[in-house]
Amino acid sequence: MSLESKFKLSIPADEQRAKYEAERNKRIRADGAAQYQELKGRFADLDEDPYVTEKIVRDPIVTEREVAILGGGFGGLTQGAHLMKQGIADFTIIERGGDFGGTWYWNRYPGCMCDVESYCYLPLLDDTGYVPRQKYSTAPEIFAYCQMIGRHFGLYERALFQTQVTGAHWDETAKRWIVTTDRGDRLAARYLVMAGGILHKAKLPGVPGIETFKGHAFHTSRWDYDYTGGSPTTFMDKLADKKVGIVGTGATAIQAVPHLAEAAGHLTVFQRTPSSVGPRDNRATDPGWEASLKPGWAFEREMNFTASISGRKPVPDLVDDGWTHIHRRDGAERADCPDDLALARELADFERMEEVRARIEEIVEDKQTAEALKPWYGHMCKRPCFHDEYLQSFNRPNVTLVDTKGAGVQEITENGIVVEGREYELDLLIFSTGFEVTTDYTRRMGFDPVGPGGLTFSQHINNGLETLHGLVGRKFPNLFTISTLQGAAMPNYVTMAHEDAINIAHILRWAIDKGATTIQPTHQAAEAWADIIVNSMGHFIEYNAKCTPSYFNNELGATDEKGEAKQWVPRNGVFGGPPDEFLEILREWRASHGELRDLEITTD
Ligand code: NDP
Repeated sequence: MSLESKFKLSIPADEQRAKYEAERNKRIRADGAAQYQELKGRFADLDEDPYVTEKIVRDPIVTEREVAILGGGFGGLTQGAHLMKQGIADFTIIERGGDFGGTWYWNRYPGCMCDVESYCYLPLLDDTGYVPRQKYSTAPEIFAYCQMIGRHFGLYERALFQTQVTGAHWDETAKRWIVTTDRGDRLAARYLVMAGGILHKAKLPGVPGIETFKGHAFHTSRWDYDYTGGSPTTFMDKLADKKVGIVGTGATAIQAVPHLAEAAGHLTVFQRTPSSVGPRDNRATDPGWEASLKPGWAFEREMNFTASISGRKPVPDLVDDGWTHIHRRDGAERADCPDDLALARELADFERMEEVRARIEEIVEDKQTAEALKPWYGHMCKRPCFHDEYLQSFNRPNVTLVDTKGAGVQEITENGIVVEGREYELDLLIFSTGFEVTTDYTRRMGFDPVGPGGLTFSQHINNGLETLHGLVGRKFPNLFTISTLQGAAMPNYVTMAHEDAINIAHILRWAIDKGATTIQPTHQAAEAWADIIVNSMGHFIEYNAKCTPSYFNNELGATDEKGEAKQWVPRNGVFGGPPDEFLEILREWRASHGELRDLEITTD
C-alpha cells in the first residue's frame, strides 16, 4: 500500500504540487515586501486615531523610573502585571492609543473576534477570575478585558496614553535609558521594555492612483463608524445606499465581510489570494462547565492548546477546534517509518486543503465564484481562518467577488478600482491589507534606540542580533524586547508575549536585588541562543519557501525601502522548534538558577 493511498485525495499529489506552484508563480512580484506603503505623508490622515473622543492635555513629564514599558497591548499589560507581582511598582507604560488594548484598541471593525479560543487566548484569567463569555471572544469583550487587567493590577495609574515614543538613547553616565515622547516627556529609566507588538503598523497596497480616490477610504484598523453608522456591536445603518469595496481577503476581511454584506447597498470584494476558511463553531460559555472550573484551569488549558499546536496530540484535546485539528491530523500517524514523515505531512496538508475547498463547493452557490474562492497552497502558508458566515456572504445578490487571479487590483481611480481594465465605482473603499510584520523592527516601532557608543538598534539588527532568548539584548544593556526577533512564532502570540513578560519580571527582580546598574547576556550565551535559532529554522524555512507570498515568507522577496534586494540574516530569525519547547527553555532557565546564569551584571 503506497503512502499516498492512505490519504483521501481526489487529485493526485503530483497534480496538487504543480497547481500550488503555478498559483504561487502568478503571485511572485519583483518588489516583494516593498509593494506596500506606510500610512504617512499623504496618507497620514488614514493613520489618525478615530476612537479618541477627547485629546488629553497635559504638561511634559520629566522624571526617573525603574522601568519604562513601550506599548499597552497584551505585551505591555502582562509586563506591568508581572512587575507588580514581583513588587516592582516604579514603572510607566507609554501607549500611543487612548487606552490599553493594543491590537484590541485599534481593531474595532464589525465582526472582529479572536480565532484562538478565548479561554486560552486571554492572559491572566487565573488572576483576574474572569471567564470569557464565548468560546471565541469578540473584540469588544477582549478590549474590555484589557481594561480589566489595567484596573486589576493598578496599571492605569502608571500609564501615559495618547503618547508616542519618539526616541530612546542610553546615557552612559547615568546608566539609564532616556526615553522621549511627542508630548515633550523625558523619562530616565533604568530598564526599557519594548512591547510594541507585531501587528500594529497598518499598511496600504502600493497601487497606482491610490491617492486620487475621491470617495471615502479607511484601513480596517481605523474603522470610521461616523461614516458607516453603527458600532462594533450594532448594525451599520448608513451604508444602505452605498457602493462599498474592500481590498483584501485575509483573516481580517473574512470577519468584516459578512457584516458589510448585510449593511451595504452593494459590496465588492477584491481578492488577490483566497484564505482557507474552516468552520468556527462558536458557542456561549456553558454555565455548568464554568461552575466546575478549578483554580489554575486557564493555565492548564492554555498549555494543553500549546501542546496541541506543538504537535504533541495531547489526550484529552481540551480545545478541540480547527487549530488543534490541523495539528492532530498532521499525517505522522499514517507514516510507517521516520523516512516517510515529511511526505506524510505534505499529504495530510493536501488532504486538509481538499476539505477546505470541498466546504466552499458545499456553501457557495455560484460555481465560478466558488472556484475563485478556493485556496491552492499549503495550509500554514497563511493564517488559517475559521468562520461560519464568510462564504455564505457570496450567495447574497448584493455581493460581488472580483477575483484578480493573483495579480491584485491594477489601479485606483478617483471613482473606484480597476481590475482587468474594468472600473468598479465605489463610494467607500476599505483597505483590509494588513500590517507590516517583516519590515525593519525600528521602522515598525517608529524610532531607533541608540545604545552605548552611538550604535543604533537597526545597525545592531543588520549586523546580526545578539540576545538571550530574544529578550535581553547584548550591546544594549538593560534593553528588553517582547517580539518575534529571536523569539517564538506561534498562532497564539499572547502565550509567548506573556511568558516573555514573566521572564523579564523575574530577571528585573533579581537585578534590582543585586543592586545592578547594568545587565546584558554574556557573549557565549548570546551566541549559543543564535545557534539554537539558526539550527531550529530548517523546516520552517523549507515550508515557507514553497508557499505563496505573504508576510509569513516576507512576500518571498526581502527588499529594502528602495526596493533593493536585502540580505537575510539567519540569526535574526525565530525559534522554529515546537512552541512548547520555547516556553520550556525559558521556564527551565529561570527555575533552575537562583543565580541567573548567562547574564553579565555591573553594580558601579
Ligand atoms: P493580511 O496581511 O493577512 O491580508 C492582507 C490582504 O490584502 C491579503 O488578502 C492580500 O492578498 C490583500 N492585498 C494586499 N495587496 C493587495 C492588492 N494590491 N490587491 C488586492 N489584494 C491585496 O492582513 P489581515 O489584516 O487580514 O490579517 C493580518 C494578521 O492579523 C493575520 O495574519 C493574523 O495574524 C492577524 N489576525 C488575527 C485574527 C485572529 O482572529 N486572531 C483576526 C484577524 C487578523 P495576498 O494574500 O495575495 O497577499
